[in-house]
Amino acid sequence: MYPTPAIVIGRINLGEADRILTLLTPDYGKLRVSIRGVRKIKSRLAGHVELFCQVRLMLAKGKNLDVVTSAELIHSLDAILDQPERLNLAYLMASMFDRLSLEGEAQPELYALGEEFLSTLDGGGEPVLLELALKLRLLEVLGYQPELSHCVICRRSDAACIYYLSPEKGGLIDEACGLAGGYRFDQKAIKLWRLALTVPMVRLSDIEGATKLAADSIDLCDQFYEYHFGRRFTGGLLGV
Ligand SMILES: [Zn+2]
Repeated sequence: MYPTPAIVIGRINLGEADRILTLLTPDYGKLRVSIRGVRKIKSRLAGHVELFCQVRLMLAKGKNLDVVTSAELIHSLDAILDQPERLNLAYLMASMFDRLSLEGEAQPELYALGEEFLSTLDGGGEPVLLELALKLRLLEVLGYQPELSHCVICRRSDAACIYYLSPEKGGLIDEACGLAGGYRFDQKAIKLWRLALTVPMVRLSDIEGATKLAADSIDLCDQFYEYHFGRRFTGGLLGV
């Protein structure tokens, strides 16, 4: 037996009462476990292992999959179940973590990101800002953080300069180095992206004009995913 905190990012029903859960854990990365009798009435585990719940689990080694023996709820998204836009973002997070996390490898930064994202989502953060912060911070965790402090070619850093953003080159390119067909990226958006990578998500709503800047630039962020992973993550429920 071993304990672990976990975020439930997927579930499949199995037979009449059992379920397979996909979990994100800090120490074991993505983990698939089975949970028995969870769909029987009065199951003591049922309410604690819904999608997007953050839980503290006790797991027993199983032949194939390990088995949940007890579950204690840390945080649930019950409060936003009637808010489609927020719920959709939770699905988007689960879909991204499921596709991009590794099985059997410690991923504490990824777990911490999920934890912060879910609690901010529940606490009223602006959805498009949360989406941008999630996507940028996930790029960082995965080692693909865009270079936002200087031109990736000549290293020029100048607040008055016109910059372009290039997923292929990995970040900003200034006007002198040029970028045929590049995407112009204004200084305010650069500043927001930097902040999205450094300040707690809950504080992003305090930045003036942040919501519009995020909405205008999220497509550029999606292009980094397209370049590195061959696909965009945009749909939430629809995209899963
Ligand atoms: Zn340059």
